[in-house]
Amino acid sequence: MERLHSTKASELAHTQPLAPIVLDALGNCLGEMPPEKLFLRHTRANDPIPALNRALVKSGAGGEKQIGIHLFCGGPFFRRGATATSDAAYCKICGYRFYIPLAAATYGDLEKHAAESRARVIATQASLMMLHPEHNA
Ligand SMILES: [Zn+2]
Repeated sequence: MERLHSTKASELAHTQPLAPIVLDALGNCLGEMPPEKLFLRHTRANDPIPALNRALVKSGAGGEKQIGIHLFCGGPFFRRGATATSDAAYCKICGYRFYIPLAAATYGDLEKHAAESRARVIATQASLMMLHPEHNA
């Protein structure tokens, strides 16, 4: 009975869309891609972010992966290589771009990284306001 209950709970988790991941202080958000139609399985926080096929990218044959949707804009986010430590994801409609540390393997990792980045931006703005109080309205 316990086992049956936990199986149902894990199935239920797939019926709920992934909560939007807030990418920056402006409120740009990553939403999950439309769920796989056959099973209506939604993305979960512990799902891996689709990785680049680096061999294909290097050969110029493509290999970019769609990793989500730019909410409100509606454009698809594609992942591509950027630096030795980060990939970039860009929106094919509006060009918005953000970075994914290679250490971030899952959507939950990306969410944590984005939250830490937003906190750093806010802390920097606060310290600039303290250094230059004449610019505060
Ligand atoms: Zn966009």
